[in-house]
Amino acid sequence: MPHVITQSCCSDGSCVYSCPVNCIHPSPDEADFARAEMLYIDPVACVDCGACVSACPVGAILPDSRLTPEQLPFAAINADHYPPRPDGVKVPPTSKLAPVLPAPRLRGRDLRVAIVGSGPAGMYAADELLTQSGVRVNVFDKLPTPYGLVRAGVAPDHQSTKSITRLFDRISAARGFTYYLNAEVGHHLSHDDLLEHHHAVVYAVGAPGDRRLDIDGMGLPGSGSATETVAWINGHPDFADQPADLSHERAVIVGNGNVALDVARILTSDPETLAVTDISDAALRELRNSAVREVVVAARRDPADSAFTLPELLGLVAHAEVVLDTEDHALVRRDLGTAGDAGTIAKLEILAALPDSATESTRPRIRLAYRLTPQRILGGARVNGVEFTRTGSGETSTVDAGLVLSSIGYRGAPIAGLPFDDAAAVVPNRAGSVVNPVTGRPVTGAYVAGWIKRGPTGFIGTNKSCAMQTVSTLVDDFNAGLLRDPAARPAALARLVRSRAPGVVDAAGWRAIDAAEVRRGAASGRPRVKFTSVPEMLAAADSARPARRFSGPSRRTGA
Ligand SMILES: Cc1cc2nc3c(=O)[nH]c(=O)nc-3n(C[C@H](O)[C@H](O)[C@H](O)COP(=O)(O)OP(=O)(O)OC[C@H]3O[C@@H](n4cnc5c(N)ncnc54)[C@H](O)[C@@H]3O)c2cc1C
Repeated sequence: MPHVITQSCCSDGSCVYSCPVNCIHPSPDEADFARAEMLYIDPVACVDCGACVSACPVGAILPDSRLTPEQLPFAAINADHYPPRPDGVKVPPTSKLAPVLPAPRLRGRDLRVAIVGSGPAGMYAADELLTQSGVRVNVFDKLPTPYGLVRAGVAPDHQSTKSITRLFDRISAARGFTYYLNAEVGHHLSHDDLLEHHHAVVYAVGAPGDRRLDIDGMGLPGSGSATETVAWINGHPDFADQPADLSHERAVIVGNGNVALDVARILTSDPETLAVTDISDAALRELRNSAVREVVVAARRDPADSAFTLPELLGLVAHAEVVLDTEDHALVRRDLGTAGDAGTIAKLEILAALPDSATESTRPRIRLAYRLTPQRILGGARVNGVEFTRTGSGETSTVDAGLVLSSIGYRGAPIAGLPFDDAAAVVPNRAGSVVNPVTGRPVTGAYVAGWIKRGPTGFIGTNKSCAMQTVSTLVDDFNAGLLRDPAARPAALARLVRSRAPGVVDAAGWRAIDAAEVRRGAASGRPRVKFTSVPEMLAAADSARPARRFSGPSRRTGA
C-alpha cells in the first residue's frame, strides 16, 4: 500500500530525508527540484513505513487506500514521475541515496544573528542556525503576528497548508530563539543598529509588492491586484480597509498562476464552506452579499502555457465549477496534439474535459480564458469592463466586469542600505551573501533568504533549502573570521528595541494573540477568528502581560 503525496505538498523536503529507501523525488539536491510542481513518491520503491507521513509538515501524504475521490488522481501523478521497471526491480536505475546535507559546523561560540522577517524563509533560517549550540537568533517582523504569507497569503480554504505553522511554533520555542514582533527594520531599527548587536543580519522580507499591470484604467475604483485581495481575504491589517467590490456579476483576473486560481476559487465558493476557515470576517461578510456569478481568469498565452500547477488545477476542478469557451476548447485540443511533457499533457487533459461555457450554471463559476491581452480597463466613475485584443491578432473584444484584478506576480522591494537589482527585483547575492554589484564584493554581515533572494517563486518548503544555503554561507564566513563581532552586549538589544518600538511584541504576546484568535473561533467551529487591526492585536498581546508588552529574551537563553 504505497503512500501518495497530494495537493498541499509544500516541497519542504522533510519527507525526502525521512524516507529510508530514497523513494521521494526530486530531492533538494536534484536538478529538477527547483522546477518541480510538487514532490512524488515512487509507488514501486515505497516500503509503506509511514516515516514520510510523520515528517510532512502539512499533512499532504496519505496511504493510497485513504485517498478521497478528489485525491485519487495524485496516485497516478506520483507514479508517472518514475520510469517503468521490469518486475522485481524496485529502484530506478538513476536513483541515488537521499542526500545528507552537511549541517553547518560552527567554530567558536556566541554567533548572534538577526533575521528580518518571520515568514517561511526566516523561520527555516532560524531552524538551521539553531541546530548549533551557541547560536542566538533574534527574529524581527513588522507585524505583531509572525509567519508572513503562510498567515496572509495561503488561501483560507487550504488549512492543511497553513498547518506548517505548527512546525514554525516548534522552531520559535527552541533555545536561543527570540521574537521581536511589531518592530520594522528600516523604520524602527536600521541595518547598522542590527549590526551593532549581531554578527550578521539575514533579510527574509519576502516580496511585498506586485507587478503592476500598466494599462489605462488601472487605478479606477473596482480595479486592483490579486495581491491586495489575497491580503484582504486573509485579514492582513494593512489591507483590512480595501475590500474587493463584489457588487457586479462578473470579475476578471488577469493572469492565470496559482494565486489567480486561489482568488477565483474564493470568489466563487459557497461562503458557508469558507465560514469554517480563518478567512477574515469582513471578507466573509462581503462574500455572503456577493453578486459575482462568474470569474474570468484571462491569460495572454495558450492553454499549454498555463502558469498554474497541476495539483492546483486538480484541486480547483474538484471544488469549483470551471468552464471553457468553445474557442478555448479548440486551443486545448490543438495544444494536446503538440504538447511534449507529461505535466503539460495532464493539465491539458483536465482542461479538455471541462464543460463548455454555454452550459447553464447553477452556481458561481470560473471561466478559464486564453489568448487575451488586456488593452485598457473600461469605465468612468468605476470599472465596467476590460478591453482585450486576441493575442497575436488585432481583433478586440470586451468583457463586462465590475472588478478587475491583476495577478501577474509579486515583486521584491529595496531594503535601506543594501544594493537592489531593480530588473529582477531581488537583492543581488552569492549563495545568500549580499554582493555589491559594482565591486562584486560581499556586503559584510548582510545575507538574504527566500523571495527577496531568489524572486517570488516556489512553494513554502522551497524556502527551506534556500535558507539552508544562506545559513551555510553565513556560518562559513563566521568560521573564516569574516564577520565583525557586535559592539553591543546581548542584553542591550531588548532595551534598544523597546525604546525604538514601544509596541514590540514578544513570544508571550504572540501566544496571547494566537490564543485569543483561537478562542474567538472556537464557538463557531473555526480554527481562529483573526484580528485584522494592529491595535486589536496589541490589546490581545497586552492582556497576557498587562505591565509590559515585551518581556525580553528568556533567562534560559540569556540572549
Ligand atoms: C497568495 C499566495 C498563496 C500561496 N499559497 C501557497 C500554498 O498554498 N502552498 C505553498 O507551498 N506556497 C504558497 N505560496 C508561496 C509561499 O507563501 C512563499 O514561498 C513564502 O511565503 C515566501 O517566504 P518568504 O519568507 O520569502 O516571504 P514572506 O512569507 O512574505 O515573509 C516575509 C516576512 O517579512 C516581514 N517583513 C517584511 N519587511 C519587513 C521589515 N522591513 N521589517 C520586519 N519584517 C519585515 C513580513 O511581515 C513577513 O512576515 C503562496 C504565495 C502567495 C503569494
